[in-house]
Order: sequence, then C-alpha cells, then structure tokens
Amino acid sequence: MTLSGGSFDSIKIENGADYQSLLAAGYAYQKQDGAWVKLSEMNENTAVTVVECSHPDDPSGGNVCPYCGYAAEVTKTDGSISYHRTADEAIAAAGGGTVKLLANAGEITISSPLKLDLNGKTAAKLTVTGDVTLASLLPEGYAFKSGSTWISDLSGTELTNVSMAKIPIKNMNYPTEMSMTYGGAGTLLVKVEKETGTGAVSFQWYKVEDGKAQQLAARQQRINLIFLRKSCPQAGTPSDFPPLATVTRR
Ligand SMILES: [Zn+2]
Repeated sequence: MTLSGGSFDSIKIENGADYQSLLAAGYAYQKQDGAWVKLSEMNENTAVTVVECSHPDDPSGGNVCPYCGYAAEVTKTDGSISYHRTADEAIAAAGGGTVKLLANAGEITISSPLKLDLNGKTAAKLTVTGDVTLASLLPEGYAFKSGSTWISDLSGTELTNVSMAKIPIKNMNYPTEMSMTYGGAGTLLVKVEKETGTGAVSFQWYKVEDGKAQQLAARQQRINLIFLRKSCPQAGTPSDFPPLATVTRR
C-alpha cells in the first residue's frame, strides 16, 4: 500500500515497515497547520495529511529531502517521472532527460548528455567528462553560480559550490548595422529586456584590441564610438572589424 493523499489521525506501522515506504514517491506528510513532517520525526501520534512534497530547503536531511526522502527527480524525454535516493542514481537513470535536485548534493559527475535542474539547491562539486560540457547541462534561460558569483566561463569541466539561477537579463542587443563610415563617429545604444523583478542594470564597456580587453570608464547604456581604420588595415567591410566594445553583466 502506498499513500498519495488522504488525512489520517494516526498511522501505525508494523515492524519492518517505515514511514517513507508508505508514501508514494515524491509525497510527504504534512500536519493540519501546513507544517511539513520530517520522516525521522513521524510517529503514530502525529495527525497528518499526505500531499505532494514541495522539497523545501532543509539541509538537515543531508543529500536527501528530509520530508520525502529522495535526492533527485528524473523526467525522461517521454515524460515519465521517477524518484531516486541519490543524485548519482538519478543521473544514471536520466536517459537524456532532466535531473532535478530535491536537496543539496555532494560531488556529482555527469558523463552522458542530460539537462540539470539544480532547483535552488547547491552541489558541492559538479564535474563533466567525455563529450558533456557544462553549458550543455543548463536549461534554457539559466546560468550557473558558484557561491554568489555568476559563472560566464563554461569552458572548464568542474565547478564547486555550484547552484543555478534564472538569467536576470532576457536579452540584450544593439544594432548590427550602423551607418558609420571609417573615421566617423556614432552612438551605440544597447537595448535590454529584463526578467520581471530584476533591478537596475549596470554597464561596463571594454575595448577589445588584438584579443585583449581594456576596461573603459564608460558606465552608461550608450557609448560614443569612433571607427578607426588603422587597427585593421586589411579589412574591407565593416563586418571584418572586431567589435570595439562588448557588454558584460556585473
Ligand atoms: Zn521532498
């Protein structure tokens, strides 16, 4: 018998059974006042309702959610969902689908393609091997953070203290064609589309020359440019010129 709903004044278990094994995977016990009940604290004197677990942040469970007892949820490409006691088991079962953490994880290694949803949790260390890249793990619109630092360089194979968050800037663009002649001047205005709730965006401009970036004093959304021929004497069309400025998020 597994429970996936219902309210109970008292649940008694016989020897050999435990409170987690009574639950359908991904479900948890909740008190009448809405408080989640840890599996380790569940007993026959607790009146509960069985509901789908929301896996609230709680490091007391170690690498599993203390309320449902699972470490990760897998959604396969055919839409089927399974729950796993360790992140490693979930990664092995992913089959190209999505692995979603339900609790903070220790060290995880990914060696075959899948999408990773860290779901607000943190992995102590994330390693990719073989053909898998860090970038390939990210769901659309998300980026990695290490501690509180956004990770923009995804060329490595390892991140520590890693979490994932929605990129606050949806898109950023500037005109790719400008009617500037060489030696002429113009103003570049960057258009920014932000996620709802994102605060002010700050700008930092860089001059890139011979592959080296030089930070400029300009901090505005617009920048004045002068096209100089001398840095690229061989170039015949504007598209042959390297960008004079790039934008990074701070
Ligand atoms: Zn849970």
